[in-house]
Amino acid sequence: MKTDYEISLEAKKENIETIASKMGVEKEDLVKYGNYKAKIKFDKFDNLSKNLILVTSINPTSTGEGKSTVTVGLSDGLNKIGKKSVVALREPSFGPVLGRKGGATGGGYAQVVPMEEINLHFNGDLHAITSAHNAIMSLINNHIFQGNELGFERVEFNYVLDMNERALRSIKINAGKKSERDSYFEITVASEIMAILCLAENLDDLKQKIANMLIGFNKANEPIYVKDLKIEGVVTAILRDALNPNLVQSLENNPAIIHGGPFANIAHGCNSVIATKTALKYGEYVVTEAGFGADLGAEKFIDIKCRKSGLRPKAAVIVATIKALKLHGGVKESDLNIENLGALKTGLENIEKHIENMNKFNLPVIIALNKFVTDTDAEIQLIENWAKEIGVEFSLTEVWAKGGEGAIDLAEKVVNIVENNKQELKFIYEDEDSIEDKINKVAKEIYGASSVNFTDESLIKLGRINLLGYNNLPICIAKTPNSLSDNPKLIGRPRDFEITVTDMNIRSGAGFIVVYLNKVMTMPGLPKVPNALAIDVNEEGNIVNLF
Ligand code: ADP
Repeated sequence: MKTDYEISLEAKKENIETIASKMGVEKEDLVKYGNYKAKIKFDKFDNLSKNLILVTSINPTSTGEGKSTVTVGLSDGLNKIGKKSVVALREPSFGPVLGRKGGATGGGYAQVVPMEEINLHFNGDLHAITSAHNAIMSLINNHIFQGNELGFERVEFNYVLDMNERALRSIKINAGKKSERDSYFEITVASEIMAILCLAENLDDLKQKIANMLIGFNKANEPIYVKDLKIEGVVTAILRDALNPNLVQSLENNPAIIHGGPFANIAHGCNSVIATKTALKYGEYVVTEAGFGADLGAEKFIDIKCRKSGLRPKAAVIVATIKALKLHGGVKESDLNIENLGALKTGLENIEKHIENMNKFNLPVIIALNKFVTDTDAEIQLIENWAKEIGVEFSLTEVWAKGGEGAIDLAEKVVNIVENNKQELKFIYEDEDSIEDKINKVAKEIYGASSVNFTDESLIKLGRINLLGYNNLPICIAKTPNSLSDNPKLIGRPRDFEITVTDMNIRSGAGFIVVYLNKVMTMPGLPKVPNALAIDVNEEGNIVNLF
């Protein structure tokens, strides 16, 4: 069997100018980065298509669900049935590339290319975000060194690096000096700048959001913002080009816009608003994805990204695999290749809850079963029958093996849903709800929790949020993706569980409150045998063993 990378190398790529002209992008709006990558300059977003499709999934498991693969394959499928579709994806972080195999560019015959360039450096966005973030830290430190006119008592800012590097999780700066201070690095995709870039509507809005970033407190416990340092201009300058979305293509030469990739726990986990709107400007249909499962990714896509940007999806595709459903039904990983209809039936409870949740947002659902070669006919039939019983549209997709051809049925059903959806998208909470009410609504309605506990630490933070007047912001819950609850071991559809809020953080630039249910690792480490040991460049100059 060929690897994803081997398949991607066989792609008959078209010049990016051809892809752009097929889409209708004017020559002067295209900034080429070599033959196969470009950025698109954007201006006004009017006359946007309304045919936005969100791809999400069940709670992720160790087997991988293939959400990106289905997202790319569905867009190719839509193009196959004559719809002008553009796929809008998140941009991969470099950090994990050295660690483990598995890119963020789809898989099998449903991929975007050039995959090695998308995974390594791409068009420099991650570099720009790293520089912009560290410039703020450097200018804070210089301000303090030069006399600390603003009276920084506590700096609530840190460094970022696009690398998995556990040795930088805690550091001393000004080591050995009177001004010695503790600090730390996070991976670049955890930077608030990444979330800001993904929520900004244009350069002005970007600058405004950067200006509003909270970076510390003075002796009187008053907040200090980026605008107090008067550095929002330079930070915006560093990010100017990174704000333009990137254009590449699928293996089937259909346009793919890839831009921005914030964490889906401490941030909202979707590609940029500008990327999605650019795709809707040029495409008749747009397929996009959100991180993790529907409890985290889709909820934030709607309650944060859609609320702020005015975007309104018309359908949700929930991706599931038989292996993952069997894991949710209690099967051990070693037994996944054995047919087990009982466990599969139990595991369906997980997707059932996500379907109910999407309906709470008024979003019609289609189940996309991502077919693996190990799936048996009886297992597939069981899910199809179950979907029919509960009245939910179902499609068996074979995009990994067949590309767009494997998603023709899915594409036809999605078009049907989109064309007939007259419902208005609903949010789970209102801006005016208190932060506690917002948390309670997401926890009870979406996760299925019976109650919410708050630690003393989180209540102190809540007091600060209310005092500073940020109670109208949406919430961004950071919790385990593996369970609907805050306990990764509670797979399937847990009931009668409590959740505990342990901490909260103000992200006044991005415009949300991060609510922690679990500790979140924002600087990953590398495994004992990292994938870095296999990566090489061969005699023809091709990178090998990337994935
Ligand atoms: P996710 O977006 O859910 O993390 P991806 O789409 O990135 O998942 O896929 C993860 C990996 O699983 C990729 O290497 C891809 O090739 C593989 N994969 C996806 N679907 C299938 C399938 N149907 N059969 C075999 N491998 C698959």
